[in-house]
Amino acid sequence: MNPCEHIRSHIFERFNKKDAEKNLSALCYSLLSAQLKKWEALEKTYKSLQNIMTRNIRCTGFSVLLQYNPERITSSLAGTGNSNENEHSCFLCLHNLPERQQGILYQDVFLILCNPAPVLPFHFTVAHVNHYRQDIMAHMDTFLALIADFGSQWTVLYNGPRCGASAPHHLHFQVIPSGKTPIEKEIREKERLTIVKQKKGVIFYKVSKLEREIMVIEGNDSIAIADALNEYMATLKKYLPADEEPMINIAGFFEEKRWRLIVFPRKKHRPQAFFQEGDRRVVVSPAILEMLGLIITPMKKDFEKLDAKTIEAIYNEVSLKKILPYNYVQPSKRT
Ligand SMILES: [Zn+2]
Repeated sequence: MNPCEHIRSHIFERFNKKDAEKNLSALCYSLLSAQLKKWEALEKTYKSLQNIMTRNIRCTGFSVLLQYNPERITSSLAGTGNSNENEHSCFLCLHNLPERQQGILYQDVFLILCNPAPVLPFHFTVAHVNHYRQDIMAHMDTFLALIADFGSQWTVLYNGPRCGASAPHHLHFQVIPSGKTPIEKEIREKERLTIVKQKKGVIFYKVSKLEREIMVIEGNDSIAIADALNEYMATLKKYLPADEEPMINIAGFFEEKRWRLIVFPRKKHRPQAFFQEGDRRVVVSPAILEMLGLIITPMKKDFEKLDAKTIEAIYNEVSLKKILPYNYVQPSKRT
């Protein structure tokens, strides 16, 4: 099959911004419904979602939701190095997609696909049709367009290639419904917020008492938001000996025609406990969902054993803290 035929066989619909009847949400609901009917493996993993267990843990000043989800073991153990370095072994490359997997063609070069190992009843992966490495700044326009086109009911997620992307060599985003992660409520509590910078209609603010370093970037102009993230990334680069993208995870929201990016700068991908042996090992691999407070544990013993102290220690260990020269401006009055 030539590359064009490969793409055609995997297209369920094309997203056209001008077709108001078929907005992106509606198309994704149709896609999932159709895929569940004709792709048995997906139907099976969606059924297994009924068996996942959750547990709320109250930490100091914040909460997390643990999810026991054995289907996520592959993702939790995924290598961050060369796991899908070449196209032959890459599970997001078109020629490796399951025959029955189809998606919505977005901007002619992305396919919105049902994630075959969902953590929530709606969980999509947006993959480029070509094998390009994860690189947020090179694809910021698409990231912001996706956030706006999905709208306020959805959250678009990005994992850096060295801190959580299960396919670091293939450009992709994830999409989940909004309102499902603990941090979304916590970052609205105005006593936690401090504005650190305002520029060209963009506000940068920090969120305190969550044990994680967080920079929120908010504004209604996509070019100014992209510039702001670029500036923030450049700042991170100054402090890190990185010749590639600084380690970050980002969640993007769209409310009242404003973008809100929650950015987590990272010091390391996995905590020390991940590399221990036997009972001391904790299989938690913090990526964007975990940074948002939804902690996936594919092992039952971790689900049962994890406590507030261990979770706070993990956040402290993997977050890049207190090095950023963003000056205090004024207390936030935003809600
Ligand atoms: Zn690929």
